[in-house]
Amino acid sequence: MRVLTVVGNRPQFVKAAAVSSRLRAVGEEVLVHTGQHYDDALSRVFFDELELPRPEHRFELGGGSNTEQTARMLSAIAPLLGDVDAVLVYGDTNSTLAGALAAAQAGVPVAHVEAGMRSYDRSMPEELNRVLTDHASSLLLCSSEAAAETLRGEQVVGAVKVVGDVMVDVFELLAPRADAFVLGTLGVTHGEYLLATAHRAGNVDDPTRLRALVDVLTGMPLPVVLPLHPRTRARLDAAGLLEALEGVIVAPPLGYLEFTALVVGARAVLTDSGGVQKEAYLAGVPCVTLRATTEWRETIDAGWNVLVDLDADAARAALARPVPAERPPLYGDGQAGARVVDALVRMVG
Ligand code: UDP
Repeated sequence: MRVLTVVGNRPQFVKAAAVSSRLRAVGEEVLVHTGQHYDDALSRVFFDELELPRPEHRFELGGGSNTEQTARMLSAIAPLLGDVDAVLVYGDTNSTLAGALAAAQAGVPVAHVEAGMRSYDRSMPEELNRVLTDHASSLLLCSSEAAAETLRGEQVVGAVKVVGDVMVDVFELLAPRADAFVLGTLGVTHGEYLLATAHRAGNVDDPTRLRALVDVLTGMPLPVVLPLHPRTRARLDAAGLLEALEGVIVAPPLGYLEFTALVVGARAVLTDSGGVQKEAYLAGVPCVTLRATTEWRETIDAGWNVLVDLDADAARAALARPVPAERPPLYGDGQAGARVVDALVRMVG
């Protein structure tokens, strides 16, 4: 079995870490890094910490509009498909869609990990990528039963299988090795700070929304640690808003082990990230999501996550809520990576 895996950005390196070595134990993997995230803080540190193999193909296809980026990726991936049995893609980025579409056009079966997630907000580029990838896929590997139901409702043509969430595998393996030294470095104490991340286009590209984001982050009742995504830093800088983050403890983007320590130690997490909503839940830390919608609806239903968009009052009210007593395993048992590989072996034969 020869599988071409396409990754390109930070969350995909995390997800691939649950699968890559298992896949290489039973077949051949050709790892393609599109370079959607290329700086060391968003890329190399993850390959090192998560012990991901060096990519067989490494491109620099980031930058430009979503359309340009996806087009460049399609052109780069298509020539690599000659002798592969399947293409494996993760999540909802331009790299995901480009990998899936190039494969589907070449008649190569596509397996999509994290299939069936929906925010039902088509203005999010990620939502379009999710829907299109799912409908181009032969094997739809879901994090939850609800995601599988969604796909059945959409009558996708591929086979739908619930495998659990690969980020659970990585979190369970690496959370015990999380690097809590970072709390002292940033001058915060376990349980007495909030951890924030923000980088969604809908929150940072529009100056009015960016200002509202700054107002949320500066209006919190506890110190806020903000590992700043380069995109957000660039937008804040351009809008002259970096200085407005008064009192916020701004850090560079962190590696997985330091970031996980900050999640585990936080009183609550404020985020517009998909993966971080999930990881807060896994850590038993309440999450306040700085969006109006989420594809990780199970965390809302379980009472651990609240959607506040960019409303500072709503964020403060969410932080004052009691922590729920129950935290059921919403996204599987930490063995999703093994099930992904089993499903691939079955599909390819
Ligand atoms: N993450 C990290 N360092 C940071 C911020 C996030 O290691 O400074 C990790 C986080 O633990 C999660 C992933 O990056 O596994 C989430 O990535 P991101 O928020 O960029 O993407 P999204 O999930 O929103 O697509």
